[in-house]
Amino acid sequence: MFKKILVANRGEIALRIQRACRELGVQAVMVYSEADREAKYVKLAEEAVCIGPGPSALSYLNMPAIISAAEVTDAEAIHPGYGFLSENADFAERVEQSGFQFIGPTPESIRMMGDKVSAKQAMIRAGVPCVPGSEGELPDDPAQIRRIAKTIGYPVIIKAAGGGGGRGMRVVHTEAALVNAVQMTKAEAGAAFGNPAVYMEKFLQNPRHIEIQVLADKFRNAVYLGERDCSMQRRHQKIIEEAPAPGILRKLIEKVGERCVAACKKMGYRGAGTFEFLYENGEFYFIEMNTRVQVEHPVTEMVTGIDIVKTQILVAAGGKLPFIQRDIEIHGHAIECRLNAEDPYKFTPSPGRITMWHAPGGPGVRVDSHVYTNYFVPPNYDSMVGKIIVHGDTREQALARMRTALAETLVEGILTNIPLHRELMADAKFMAGGTNIHYLEEWMARRTR
Ligand code: ADP
Repeated sequence: MFKKILVANRGEIALRIQRACRELGVQAVMVYSEADREAKYVKLAEEAVCIGPGPSALSYLNMPAIISAAEVTDAEAIHPGYGFLSENADFAERVEQSGFQFIGPTPESIRMMGDKVSAKQAMIRAGVPCVPGSEGELPDDPAQIRRIAKTIGYPVIIKAAGGGGGRGMRVVHTEAALVNAVQMTKAEAGAAFGNPAVYMEKFLQNPRHIEIQVLADKFRNAVYLGERDCSMQRRHQKIIEEAPAPGILRKLIEKVGERCVAACKKMGYRGAGTFEFLYENGEFYFIEMNTRVQVEHPVTEMVTGIDIVKTQILVAAGGKLPFIQRDIEIHGHAIECRLNAEDPYKFTPSPGRITMWHAPGGPGVRVDSHVYTNYFVPPNYDSMVGKIIVHGDTREQALARMRTALAETLVEGILTNIPLHRELMADAKFMAGGTNIHYLEEWMARRTR
């Protein structure tokens, strides 16, 4: 096991990794920008290094600053968390070239999954079900493009191979609009991602977002830890996640989970990963793979009892997965609400000083948050200030626990989306389970203040 790990991230995930290190008896070096001096994990740290000013480009995205922080503190490995440099293959490569272990997959795996065309081709080879679409990158010839769309059937979606964060996509409903849409997406993709390659998929009208969590070691052992339903999204941003996904047959999950495991073994994947799918009419369609720990990983931890972050560290240190597929059981139901510092109606960010923070507690309640009373939420970063996660024997019990937890949560001095979560936990359709990816936005359009 490592003696010392550098945590190259901020916010709640920095605290989460620090907690995992403590449990493993590993020293954690925290890094922080000038805007994050007051964060809880910095105050709790045995060692912390300032890596630059507030703007991410000068601190959390500053590769030389992070690598030299690891050098001066004698850390052996770097945990990238999520966001920032976590899916940057060049960073993973530089970390390893500098003699540190990157806590994540190999740069080759990150690169392959970061290009959606090569990711999809790898999935097809491994037998993972994908959205019907073009075989790889679209050609330039308009006649060929039209032929491909006709075979797939309208509506189609044009997606950038290098896209991410919900950008670089365009839906096309008619042949008349097709070629122009392809050209525009190509031009945008070239400018935004430095890669003009685009591909085409059937556009699914009312899918749910279901994802499969995997863990793998360096010896080609891999397991899946069941699924998460992350369909409650606003502008492609998840705000509520749960496990298991309501109303989906276990047999179907097992089938797709086994394909994900096969894909991991085939590509020599190591560490934690997530296969994201759209689910419609009883079928799964792969859309992308995330090669890092995700915000919503706690719901899986709550239903499986497996610590995903500790396992990431263990396998990065060269350890074998301490469990096999047969050991993994799903118990009860877990729900996560992301708490954002934002106006609950207009969604404008609401940074500033938190004058009062009271987190909920009680049976089956977990809070992952780096904030506290008198903490200043800096305006520089993502608005998430924490997550409330609950577990219950049944979905009904989990919902009841989340309602109680949200009623107990007090945050003053800034605006948060807690009122939104309170309303949603009492919404009849959400309570029934199985809402699709459009539900939250449709519900918001109906909502009156
Ligand atoms: P990103 O990496 O930008 O998040 P994804 O490929 O994960 O891109 O897609 C983001 C979102 O776009 C999905 O969650 C879904 O809402 C929508 N989407 C992507 N592909 C399709 C498709 N074939 N049909 C319908 N919606 C899609």
